[in-house]
Amino acid sequence: MTYRGRFAPSPTGHLHFGSLVAAVGSWLCARHAGGQWLLRMENIDPPREVAGSAASILAALPAFGLVADAPPLFQSQRIDAYDAAFEQLRATDQVFPCWCSRSDLADANGMHRDGACIAPPEPDRPPAWRLRIPDIDVVFDDALQGPQQQNLRESAGDFVIKRVEGYYSYQLACVVDDAFQGITEVVRGSDLLDSTARQIWLQRCLGLPTPDYRHLPLVLDAGGRKLSKSEQAFPVDPTNPLPALRRALAFLRLPPTDASDAGDLLAQAWVAFDPAALPHCSGHSVA
Ligand code: GLU
Repeated sequence: MTYRGRFAPSPTGHLHFGSLVAAVGSWLCARHAGGQWLLRMENIDPPREVAGSAASILAALPAFGLVADAPPLFQSQRIDAYDAAFEQLRATDQVFPCWCSRSDLADANGMHRDGACIAPPEPDRPPAWRLRIPDIDVVFDDALQGPQQQNLRESAGDFVIKRVEGYYSYQLACVVDDAFQGITEVVRGSDLLDSTARQIWLQRCLGLPTPDYRHLPLVLDAGGRKLSKSEQAFPVDPTNPLPALRRALAFLRLPPTDASDAGDLLAQAWVAFDPAALPHCSGHSVA
């Protein structure tokens, strides 16, 4: 089977350093495997979208030498596919409507665990839709973070797959599109390690294949905080791509080279790249 990897940014701002690391890491894994590298713009959450950022991210990637093997998939154009997946879950009674408010769920830490709504139905108000989660341990082997086990009922409960506003959740759209794009390995930041068990469960509910997973260390600043909080310290400037690209490659433990443009730098990194040499920790700070 041909390796297919992807980079799936959300248009919530310009490309930042943590995303650049995920983009470069997934590109290197795909190139190393002789496979394809695909793009997906995860623009299904209009309230969180920052105008212009989808175009700015897509324009920035080639400046860093990151050219996809197919045109990008836009989640905003995939609503029919999410509707079909949702109907499949509804037809098999795997989802239920929920009118619970935050305060209804306060005693349970905001989690829903009863497989049915505990608030009275409000026919005049649209519900959220939740997936019924049994008491089950989802187990998988992450290529970098090692064996993982998560009890879904404890950690996620009956999670929302369609919001009150009618938007589909990231979890649903992600599994439908990973399957649609034929992704064989998901390479992304460790901040999403926690979502993986939910995604594997959804794949089982929908009869979709489960790809392999490789969660890269999260980029932390010197104080151990997620880098997005202090992005200014690590600018990602597509008009001057070399400094950020060199730093991203160093973060992924690639040796420095003297290449003078982004394409050459990536080509040299591709030759030197060994996925087994990627850092195994769940987060480390950038030099
Ligand atoms: N869209 C997500 C983000 O930008 C990444 C999703 C994924 O790689 O599964 O954080």
